[in-house]
Amino acid sequence: METILVLTHADETGSALTRASLEAVTAGKELATRLSASLAVGILAVDAAAAASSLHSSGARLLAVSGEAFAQARYATDAAVLEALCRAANASIVLAPGSSRFTRVAAGVAHRLGGFVDTHITALGGGDAVEATRWFYRQRVEAVLSRDARPWFLLLDAGTHKAFAGEVDAAQVEEISVQLPAIRTTVSGLRAPSQGAQTIRPDAKLLFVAGAGWTKKQADGQVHATEAGVLILGFLRLAGASLGSSKSLVDQGGEGQPILPFLTHLNQIGQTGATPRHAKGLSTCCHGEEPHVVGWRFIADRRAISLDPNCGWTRGKADVVYVADAFEVMAKVNALLESAKA
Ligand SMILES: Cc1cc2nc3c(=O)[nH]c(=O)nc-3n(C[C@H](O)[C@H](O)[C@H](O)COP(=O)(O)OP(=O)(O)OC[C@H]3O[C@@H](n4cnc5c(N)ncnc54)[C@H](O)[C@@H]3O)c2cc1C
Repeated sequence: METILVLTHADETGSALTRASLEAVTAGKELATRLSASLAVGILAVDAAAAASSLHSSGARLLAVSGEAFAQARYATDAAVLEALCRAANASIVLAPGSSRFTRVAAGVAHRLGGFVDTHITALGGGDAVEATRWFYRQRVEAVLSRDARPWFLLLDAGTHKAFAGEVDAAQVEEISVQLPAIRTTVSGLRAPSQGAQTIRPDAKLLFVAGAGWTKKQADGQVHATEAGVLILGFLRLAGASLGSSKSLVDQGGEGQPILPFLTHLNQIGQTGATPRHAKGLSTCCHGEEPHVVGWRFIADRRAISLDPNCGWTRGKADVVYVADAFEVMAKVNALLESAKA
């Protein structure tokens, strides 16, 4: 009989679980129900009692480690906490969100417990057994893994499960004591781009893709890169969308061509880029070639704006294609969004 533990952690407030953690709780509940196994949730937070309130109706045993020492991710303290939670739950299957915080320590914790870890899990299946699905070779090959090794740690990709949403109320939490090692690392502060400058938003409903057309000569024979940047950033702000790019557009910087300064290769979608998960996608000024569109595998509703009626999107790669000038369309869309907000 398996004993399932879901490891979760708080967001930057220290008192609320991250969305990816709540997704892992859903995965744990589904697995525990299918296997008729016991379910525990381990919480790492500054204020674990507050964080646990969202799990009040989860039906799981709640174990927690809390305190100021856990406000920041730090290998030594995080690894010690996860090890203690796993030992307290005597877990054979450990599910955890594949966040940067947990991805950093999961392999080390699995090793300390003599277990095994697999990452980028997108689904859990199987009848009486645990079978974990993940993609290899840039989303070309989907594999189903099973292992005899226990404890088996499975880091889940974000966006693959619904976030657990139950009644919020005070929950009964078992505080687990942890013997912390000597701490050599002190976190003196965080330096990150301001929220407004952050264009990659994995939790956004919409992916907005900018293609190279935005910086190409337009009908008047001129390049309008500055105007393009204003339109794109305006839309991201108004719609809360995540920004993706074609390879051609992000490559242009190195070629000395006009660029959009807020784009980097991290925005690139496609065969040699990212394969994000969003409910909807809007491609603009992009030709929709196969090496790009392969990165849209997990975008459910696809739309494109292109001047070219023969572009790849019109050849079965999008649900709706607007054969139109993206400068005009996005200016109008932004104006409508502005007036809707006012
Ligand atoms: C091995 C390999 C791997 C690759 N990996 C990737 C990858 O990961 N991601 C990726 O994106 N590409 C990848 N590519 C490149 C890919 O094949 C294309 O070259 C690239 O996606 C083209 O980018 P684009 O559509 O933005 O630019 P273009 O092909 O230049 O298309 C620009 C489009 O914008 C339209 N346009 C111009 N002005 C406007 C306007 N005002 N309004 C509306 N539309 C307008 C034009 O009609 C045109 O269709 C890869 C290629 C190879 C060989």
